[in-house]
Amino acid sequence: MDPATTSTGLRDGAFGNARALSCRECGHEVELGPHYACPECFGPLEVAYDFPTVTREEIAAGPRNIWRYKALLPVPGDIEESPNTEPGFTRLLRADNLAAELGLTKLWVKDDSTNPTNSFKDRVVACALSAARELHAKVFACPSTGNLANAVAAAGARAGIKTVVFIPSNLEKPKQVNSAVYTPNLVAVDGNYDDVNKLASEIAGEEDGWAFVNVNVRPFYAEGSKTLGYEIAEQLGWRLPDQIVIPVASGSQLTKVDKAFQELIKLGLVEDRPYKVFGAQATGCSPVSVAYKTGTDAIRPVKPDTIAKSLAIGNPADGIYVLDICRRTGGAVEDITDDEVREGILLLARTEGVFTETAGGTTVGVLKKLIETGQLDPDLETVVINTGMGLKTLDAVADQVGPAATIAPSYDAFRATGLA
Ligand SMILES: *Cc1c(COP(=O)(O)O)cnc(C)c1O
Ligand SMILES: [Zn+2]
Repeated sequence: MDPATTSTGLRDGAFGNARALSCRECGHEVELGPHYACPECFGPLEVAYDFPTVTREEIAAGPRNIWRYKALLPVPGDIEESPNTEPGFTRLLRADNLAAELGLTKLWVKDDSTNPTNSFKDRVVACALSAARELHAKVFACPSTGNLANAVAAAGARAGIKTVVFIPSNLEKPKQVNSAVYTPNLVAVDGNYDDVNKLASEIAGEEDGWAFVNVNVRPFYAEGSKTLGYEIAEQLGWRLPDQIVIPVASGSQLTKVDKAFQELIKLGLVEDRPYKVFGAQATGCSPVSVAYKTGTDAIRPVKPDTIAKSLAIGNPADGIYVLDICRRTGGAVEDITDDEVREGILLLARTEGVFTETAGGTTVGVLKKLIETGQLDPDLETVVINTGMGLKTLDAVADQVGPAATIAPSYDAFRATGLA
């Protein structure tokens, strides 16, 4: 999008209580629009607000989706009237069985697999869609590791806007189908996510009127992840957990959950007390975990090689902020092998009846490792985020589970299994 044309023609309140885009590095502010890099220092831009007083009662009176927090998001006051997938307000499950298995006192699973396209990406895409609409974009697009493509394709279909989604050609089949059903414009690129992302940036620079959700409207997109933090606090009865474990791909989600907690404290909606943030990666793509363990601030990009494809970003845009937050709060970043990812999937399924995808297997597996290595306090209240759905990555565990027995349809044959 040409920034010069989009600042005109914006309606009043197009971005709600958002004031400007502010540089995370130097604080320089630019007007709200399709900008993502600071003109002064090329640092990433994020949405800054002038919040009014917001009360728990006002939020509780809102719809049972992310728009109950619309006063805290860069969206217009009439956002509910525009067709969208209405994500959010997913269940926060008390996970006593998993807690007992891991030796934790109190554990919750924030289960975002029940969003409209079965991952947390519906949250960020809903905010990006609003920005695209207010900026009069003609095309709604993204480079994706899979779930984002699903969410963009579905949201674009509901909104009646042209969508084009770009994925690595080696992506899991279910995630490909899950996009293609919503859009004819699925483009498979022979390359990894970082190649796809580079291509998207190039197209965004060349083509007018394209809103790439995680490129040129990324600041608006990223704000959607804050709703995970708001919901967890509200569902805990307006308080923050002691510890939270979050998967890290680009690092945007982790960064924004922390931003949400900070905003709730500043707005007086929760008590100001310490919390620890932990990041989870798969060893086959663990640039942030490696930097954390090395003790450096610099993230060295890697070539991903892991079954956790939705986390396979080798050059994470928000990696340095993840390091910052995990270190500042007394958390950590940890990584596990693909075998441990599979174990994590099966562990969550067996103990809590929740079938997660490889990203959730990573998060649960890392939670286990954090306890075993003494990095996470088992006596503090802990939340783990399940960001996606196991049916999308069936192959990860398909070989490891199956019928306990295949028998003739007779009672004797059943007795012989020993299951009675
Ligand atoms: C995209 C994604 C993530 C991580 O998101 P970032 O904000 O890029 O760190 C985690 N889990 C799932 C299932 C995802 O699709
Ligand atoms: Zn700057």
